[in-house]
Amino acid sequence: MKLFKLFKNTFAMAVFLSAIWLLFTWSNLGMLSIQTDSRSIPVAVKNKLCNVNFNDERPHITNSTSLKMIYYVTPTYPRPEQVPELTRLAHTLMHVPRIHWIVADDQPLCSDQVSSVLRRTGLPYTHISSPKPFIYKSTNFPRGVANRRVALNWLQENVAEGVLYFGDDDNTVDLRLFDELRNTKKVSMFPVGLIGEYGVSSPIVKDGKVVGFFDSWPASRTFPVDMAGFAVNIEFLKETANMPFIAGHEEDRFLVSLDLKVEDIEPLAANCTKVLVWHTKTVKHKKPTLKININKLNTISKYQNFVNLLKETSRLGMAEVNAEAGIKSYVTRNRKTSETLADIL
Ligand code: UDP
Ligand code: MN
Repeated sequence: MKLFKLFKNTFAMAVFLSAIWLLFTWSNLGMLSIQTDSRSIPVAVKNKLCNVNFNDERPHITNSTSLKMIYYVTPTYPRPEQVPELTRLAHTLMHVPRIHWIVADDQPLCSDQVSSVLRRTGLPYTHISSPKPFIYKSTNFPRGVANRRVALNWLQENVAEGVLYFGDDDNTVDLRLFDELRNTKKVSMFPVGLIGEYGVSSPIVKDGKVVGFFDSWPASRTFPVDMAGFAVNIEFLKETANMPFIAGHEEDRFLVSLDLKVEDIEPLAANCTKVLVWHTKTVKHKKPTLKININKLNTISKYQNFVNLLKETSRLGMAEVNAEAGIKSYVTRNRKTSETLADIL
């Protein structure tokens, strides 16, 4: 009898745990989420539209409306290099007429730092918060995919014509590329510098037509190209357009989802002989912790500006400031005198 009771209890516990597990799995698959389009969002993520500005407020740019609009889609994520990367890219885009910058940020908040960069450009822009689903928080996850997918959704819902271009926050673009890709009819392609083991990734062109690809990682891809190596006319962006969460295959699967044929590709950059965009990478900065008692320093009026600089440094994620732990830091005076901050407190 006792044995039966034990068995009954164990069985009840197993049923209970399975139910919890099922509920957990379902919610992660998006089945319990409020997202209705399961094709576009396979796992529960909460995207937020932070801000949209359709006005071009740049005084120095003459925007002829006969020019097609370029929608420049940039995934980004919080790290010490985020603001500098976006600043540098902003300073390129600010020279380009008729461009709308879609910045999709991989974090659950609408970041003030990102908003502030966007506002100051004077560009038309869309700021979206698009955190990646937690199952992709491991190593070798598809980078920037959640961001590009939500940007694609926004484009499909809000824009009828123009040209889409995916440009990462760390890429380098020659202004001449914009003049070229603006005239994309379906899908245009061009070389990207600093890719893989060949130093370049590009379509190979013969008699004005793409006849093959030069890329050090073919991986059975129909279109072995980099994300920054093609542009798409938004009218060609089909209902079926989809970028899957498959690391390394995002470009190929996306182009295949558009039903693109190799013969339809429009080669740019002088028949793919010039490099007008580079897959540059910024060296990662390891965020230090400075051992400084900021509250104590704050009470000394001559260090007010310095305290504010430390706050700015920490706000931008470049260093932590901690009263108890971290590296000893120094101030320098009279060229040779240096003393620890602890000494002057
Ligand atoms: N990215 C992101 N979340 C991440 C890592 C990367 O949104 O966790 C973005 C990043 O800002 C960039 C794009 O995805 O615009 C590609 O990432 P990265 O430049 O690190 O990859 P790589 O160019 O080396 O493939
Ligand atoms: Mn990159």
